[in-house]
Amino acid sequence: MTPDVRDRTERPSRPGQDGQDPCAVPESAWRRALDLIGGADEIALACHVAPDGDALGSMLAVGFALRSQGKRVVASFGDVVFEVPRLLRFLPGQDLLVPPAEFPAEPGVLIAFDSSMSERLGLLRPSAEAAREVIVVDHHPSNVGFGTVRLIDPRAAATAMLAEELVYRLGGTLDRDIATCLYAGLVTDTGSFRYSSTTPAVHRMAARLVATGLHVEEIARELWDRSPFGYLKVLAAALDRVVLDDRLVWTYVTRVDRAAQGLPYTELEGVIDIVRRADEAEVAVVLKEDDQGAWQVSCRSKGGVDVAAVCAALGGGGHHNAAGFTSYDSVEETMARFRAELRKA
Ligand code: 5GP
Ligand code: MN
Repeated sequence: MTPDVRDRTERPSRPGQDGQDPCAVPESAWRRALDLIGGADEIALACHVAPDGDALGSMLAVGFALRSQGKRVVASFGDVVFEVPRLLRFLPGQDLLVPPAEFPAEPGVLIAFDSSMSERLGLLRPSAEAAREVIVVDHHPSNVGFGTVRLIDPRAAATAMLAEELVYRLGGTLDRDIATCLYAGLVTDTGSFRYSSTTPAVHRMAARLVATGLHVEEIARELWDRSPFGYLKVLAAALDRVVLDDRLVWTYVTRVDRAAQGLPYTELEGVIDIVRRADEAEVAVVLKEDDQGAWQVSCRSKGGVDVAAVCAALGGGGHHNAAGFTSYDSVEETMARFRAELRKA
């Protein structure tokens, strides 16, 4: 049986409605979003650069729903090298994707996913700035409030929770393809249901998704349990120079490390999850050099420090316990700036 997301008995647990709090998104915003979408023939979808499961999964799920409503859909993300990360290639709906160069320059309606600010859209940012209407679907507490319609709930564990709501309100049916995309977002952003964001509403959503017959084990393997062999060598190099410095554990991965193994940048997402294991540390940092030579910095906290604030001070952002920023300085300078901000936090 494929449960219809419109079935109210299956959905008492929309984001924000599981506890006492009302959903953070006002009814008027949902209505405005639906009106705008209803009045458009073509909808442009964008998510943040270097998309993760929540960004790409939420975008593709809504893309499916819009297409089934007869809309023309173009979806993209604004990376200089346009390539779906290997670990997300199993997601259905990739035929919705176009490279940034083919993305409309002045869309009528653009929907932005999992992006706390327009800068996160990378090469698609000018399109968002030129769009007549920008609907923002997001859950970052650090969202700066860009766009013309804001479907933002900072209490939602994943943007996928808001995307599910949007699918439902569009009159879409929660089929296995849509559910697979949403599930990728939900498991990614809850750390496989381990983070404190994992509320009863999260598990109820997971139940709705799993009921469509999606392949839980296959999805988990694609997302976390496989890598090219070269990953082990790059990981070994990163762990070889890991430093425990007061309550901070950190390391870095260079382009040279990766080139020696032919390892794409996008394979590095899991390194932080190993580094942050160190019991002695409160904060973990991994600097990852991308193909352009910039450092993409991943930060994690165990709760005592708000790394979103630290990263925001350095031009980035994120969540209390998981955040990031980009640095064009050297490793030493970047870490010096990071430590200075960390001391203030
Ligand atoms: P990750 O370390 O997994 O790349 O990122 C963790 C979280 O930090 C992401 O969910 C994202 O919200 C945020 N984040 C990472 N890099 C950046 C950045 O450069 N700018 C902003 N605003 N947020 C980032
Ligand atoms: Mn997210």
